[in-house]
Order: sequence, then structure tokens, then C-alpha cells
Amino acid sequence: MNIERPAIIAPVDSETAGRRAYPQRVQYFLIPLIFGVITGIIGRRKGSSFLLWSLVGFLLPAIGLAAVFMSRNEREDPSRECPNCHKLLPISAQVCMRCGEDLDYPAEFVV
Ligand SMILES: [Zn+2]
Repeated sequence: MNIERPAIIAPVDSETAGRRAYPQRVQYFLIPLIFGVITGIIGRRKGSSFLLWSLVGFLLPAIGLAAVFMSRNEREDPSRECPNCHKLLPISAQVCMRCGEDLDYPAEFVV
């Protein structure tokens, strides 16, 4: 007597498998993308580059976001005037971006 074995594992057709796998695949791209955009926005608000920070947030999700929170706020940096051409420069500048004057650490700040 030949008894046919019942199929224990239901065959998965390709359409169902594809639908199930799609959200898992998309999160590998979507989550870093969301982290990248948020990191970029915070970086931009701190006076830095949106593109640079969004790249950091995309490549290092969560770590990049933590890094942007800890980063220096460039908007709060004091400014100073170039003694040669009187261009307003960030305090961290070592060379004037307009005339190329070598700058020492200033005695007085212009905020
Ligand atoms: Zn200058």
C-alpha cells in the first residue's frame, strides 16, 4: 500500500516570498536615509554642512547622530576682523580668506 506523505511545509510561491522580503530589504536603506536626513538637519542648524553631516548619518546611523549632537556649534563661535582688509572671520581662522593675511590668535573679539 502506497500512502502519500502529506506536505508539512507549504510551498512558498515567489509572489508571497517577494512581498514578505520587501519591507526587510527596504529598511536597510530607509533607516540610514532617515538618520542621514536628521543628522544633516542638525548639522546645518549648527552652522555646518548639511551634505557632509547627512553622509555621516547615513553611513554611521545612530553614531553619526550622536556625533552631530556633540559637535561644536559653529554659529556660536565668536568672530573677529582681519587687521588688513577688515573682513569678518571666524575665530578659528588662521589665514584670511579674502587677502591671505596670516592671523594670530586675537586679543579682542567682535561677536
Ligand atoms: Zn584680510
